Amino acid sequence: MKLVLATHNAHKVEELRRILASRLDGIELVGYDGPEPVEDGDSFEANALIKARAASEHTGLPAIADDSGIAVDALDGAPGIHSARYAGTRSDEDNRALLLSNLEGVEERSARFVCAAALVVPPPVGAVGPDGPPEAAEGFEHVETGVWPGTVLLSAAGDGGFGYDPIFRPAGSAVSAAELTPDQKNAVSHRAVAFGALMPVVRERLLGEQAS
Ligand code: IMP
Repeated sequence: MKLVLATHNAHKVEELRRILASRLDGIELVGYDGPEPVEDGDSFEANALIKARAASEHTGLPAIADDSGIAVDALDGAPGIHSARYAGTRSDEDNRALLLSNLEGVEERSARFVCAAALVVPPPVGAVGPDGPPEAAEGFEHVETGVWPGTVLLSAAGDGGFGYDPIFRPAGSAVSAAELTPDQKNAVSHRAVAFGALMPVVRERLLGEQAS
C-alpha cells in the first residue's frame, strides 16, 4: 500500500521519515514531486489539507502532509501560518533575525511550534457510478494537530534542526531545539505529536487495522 508524503521541504522529509519509520509496516512511503498548491488556507489545518489533497489528486494515491510554524504569544500568534515566508525571502536565517528583532526588549517570550498533519484518501477507483451509493464515492480526510511549547531565546544557539530551532527553547529543556539530537527532537516535537496521532488513523484507513 503506497502513501505519498506531500512535502518538498528536505528537512521535514528527513524528520518525518524518522518519526514514521516504526509505524510504516505494510505501507510504502513515496516522495512527491508534483505541483505545489497555493497555500491560501487561514489555519495550519486548512493548509495541511490543501497540500495533502493536491498530492492525492495528482497521484491518485492516499497522501499525508504537514503544515507547521511557530506562534509567539507576544506577537498575537505571529508568524504562525506565515512562518516560512516571515521575512519575505524564505530564508531561515532572515526569518530568525526578523523574529528576534520583533521581540527586542520583550520579556514575555512564550511561544509554541504547531504542526497540523493531514491524511487524504481518494475515493476508491470505480466507486463513482450513477447507481452507486454516494458514500462509496467519497474520499476520506482527517487532520491531527500537535503543539510543542517553549520560549524564544535572545539569540541563536546550536546548528541542528532547521527553521526557528536555534532560537526556540522547548519547555523543560536547558538547550535550544537545535541543540537536541534528532531522536530527542523527534520524540517530543509538534510534528511527532501530530503524526503520532495521525498514524493510527492512516493504518486503520489503509490497512483496516483497529487503533489499539
Ligand atoms: P511550511 O513548510 O509551510 O509548513 O512552513 C513551515 C515553516 O515553519 C518552516 O519553514 C520553518 O520556518 C517553521 N518550522 C516548522 N517546523 C519547524 C521545526 O520543527 N523547527 C523549526 N522551524 C519549523
